[in-house]
Amino acid sequence: MLTKGKKLLQTHFGYNQFRAGQEDIIQKVLSGNDTLAIMPTGAGKSICYQIPAMMLPGVTFVISPLISLMKDQVDALDKAGIPSTYINSAISNEEMNQRLADIYNGEYKLVYIAPERLEVTSFRRMMDGIHISCLAIDEAHCISQWGHDFRPSYLQIKNLIQDIQPKPVVLALTATATPQVQQDVCELLRVEQENVVMTGFERENLHFQVVKGQDRDRFLLEYIEKNQGQSGIIYAATRKEVDRLYQLLNKRGIATGRYHAGLSEQNRNEQQESFLYDDVTVMVATNAFGMGINKSNVRFVIHYHIPRNMESYYQEAGRAGRDGEESDCILLFSPQDTHIQSFLIEQSDMDELRKENEYGKLRKMVAYGHTESCLQQYILHYFGEENPPECGKCGNCIDEREQIDVTKEAQMVLSCIRRMKERFGKTMVAQVLTGSANQKVKNFGFQKLSTYGIMKGKPQKEVNEFIDFLTAEGYLKPTDGTYPILMLTERAGEVLRGNELVYQKEKVQISKIVEDNA
Ligand code: ADP
Repeated sequence: MLTKGKKLLQTHFGYNQFRAGQEDIIQKVLSGNDTLAIMPTGAGKSICYQIPAMMLPGVTFVISPLISLMKDQVDALDKAGIPSTYINSAISNEEMNQRLADIYNGEYKLVYIAPERLEVTSFRRMMDGIHISCLAIDEAHCISQWGHDFRPSYLQIKNLIQDIQPKPVVLALTATATPQVQQDVCELLRVEQENVVMTGFERENLHFQVVKGQDRDRFLLEYIEKNQGQSGIIYAATRKEVDRLYQLLNKRGIATGRYHAGLSEQNRNEQQESFLYDDVTVMVATNAFGMGINKSNVRFVIHYHIPRNMESYYQEAGRAGRDGEESDCILLFSPQDTHIQSFLIEQSDMDELRKENEYGKLRKMVAYGHTESCLQQYILHYFGEENPPECGKCGNCIDEREQIDVTKEAQMVLSCIRRMKERFGKTMVAQVLTGSANQKVKNFGFQKLSTYGIMKGKPQKEVNEFIDFLTAEGYLKPTDGTYPILMLTERAGEVLRGNELVYQKEKVQISKIVEDNA
């Protein structure tokens, strides 16, 4: 069967070899196994349903939330000689009926539809009688409440699968799925564990870096100056900041575009085009920019503010280096920015459980900013890869600052938390450690603890940062929720027993301050 698949790969797409995962996924689909494919952006997911679509009888329906991309995809398939069409809110009723009739008559192998269509009863009825042999679900993480982009209309897919007779083979595809989301997708779509195909998430040509404690505007200007003429995206959290940076860069003579939801559609399209065609080299944007942007020569993606979770970060940063050339992914990290994201979560209309889940994800994003371990390893670990190796080239791997033994200070913090019975958050712990006269501290009788004031004289902010560092390195695990409580991990136990030493890069002066106060 696959010899035929390979032939189709050559004749229709002009490629000689399948990429990692593709062959395995196609094989599973052709054998009738419902499958979940997890592959990073740019890895080649589309071919995994386009090739089976040509080989299976009937038609393949592709559910995709990216309406703006459907036309491009269909145009590309037309060029490749694969009959396909799409149905979404952008086409007239008349046109839709015509397309449905053509689908019914077997004129297409692939049909792209927006998930919202599934909520229209008349549309569902029209699907009856069409021989749908495969249902491909793009951006499948949208079906999970725990995903970063949950879409209620995706829940309709479950019913759809049950309704279609005979049952089509299901292929769910996503570039971002944490172990929790993977499990959820599998349960909802009834995919067996053995039919989950996950290719490596590593993007070898990306250099990750976290920049802290610097003037961000100056960093940006210097970086762009050094990398003149190279294409890059700068993500900022708010429209206001996008506008400000856009002006700043243009004033300095850097050809810069901007993109956010406050601009007219026409303006946004123009800005996007000029970036795609290299009329402007730098694009400053909110996270509204980039879905489906297939620009291969993006050399850097800089996040001016922290995004709301690791999924968004990796997706946005991953727009760099699609051509395989070395590229930079830089996060300008300032812990205070977390408030913007917390505010957005608080203001959203999610229910409490989802909000807590979002806070938990935001905290893991913040921990990325604090970690001193390999950044790529942190990312891969987040996405469920076991024991990923150090990359040897991210900002942390090549950081040559001296490692300072901060075991004693770590023990102070950890034992204080233990003495407070692991029932309090960062602020309270830091207050006890610095010997605060706060009434709440007294109400709990914490001034009697042996760890009370053990870090006296040290600014609370620094103690907070040290606690963040211990969290990022996995010694502490905050609970989910708006006011996370600090819990000790197994590793914390090892540190307290003296079995594990804790090292921190020299810049943070905590050991010195503690020594001065000892
Ligand atoms: P994804 O959906 O995973 O982000 P796409 O399906 O858009 O990725 O594919 C990304 C690019 O890789 C496309 O230009 C596609 O034509 C190309 N591609 C896919 N499979 C192969 C292959 N086997 N060999 C070479 N290029 C491929």
